[in-house]
Amino acid sequence: PAGGRGPYKVMLLGESGVGKTALAAIFGGLKGSVHHEEESTEDSYERRFCVDDEEVILILYDIWDQADPGGWMQESCLQTGDAFLMVFSVTDRRSFTRVPPIILRLRAGCPRSDPPIILVGNKSDLARSREVSREESRSLAVMMNCKHIETSAALHHNTEELFEGVVRQIRLRHHRR
Ligand code: GDP
Repeated sequence: PAGGRGPYKVMLLGESGVGKTALAAIFGGLKGSVHHEEESTEDSYERRFCVDDEEVILILYDIWDQADPGGWMQESCLQTGDAFLMVFSVTDRRSFTRVPPIILRLRAGCPRSDPPIILVGNKSDLARSREVSREESRSLAVMMNCKHIETSAALHHNTEELFEGVVRQIRLRHHRR
């Protein structure tokens, strides 16, 4: 349809310092995007783009860090997303160990909608300080029934693939209904 499908809301999740803001800035800097900076508690980027010859509108939210741990802000973040980018840093094992509880909470909160979740191992450029192997995070993704990708926001490596991947996952869910 004219104007593109969506808008679909995509939420960045993950510990502070893993690179969510860096990924959001790349998304926002891509051609055709509009940046909305509302109150201090909300930062979002809207972008219309073409994936597989079909237009789509995504709004990427980078609001997880401002949310109170376990509180209603996080809860509403988990409930409003159409898809989730679950980010950790491959150089920070602690950020990786925080992933499963968030995914379990997400799934428990919306048992019927089963939104797409992509496990994103960011900072893949920092090979020498790596603490989580690709194999290990891939097996967590399999176990948790998520997609998996490693990115480097610093080098813009796999970032376009990440955003296209989330669009494809959203389409799969919507076509299934
Ligand atoms: P956030 O707290 O999750 O939003 O993390 P930020 O986006 O603020 O990133 C935290 C720090 O990690 C910043 O200094 C970034 O420049 C750096 N950073 C983010 N992504 C990468 C990456 O892919 N590679 C490297 N080397 N540094 C990164």
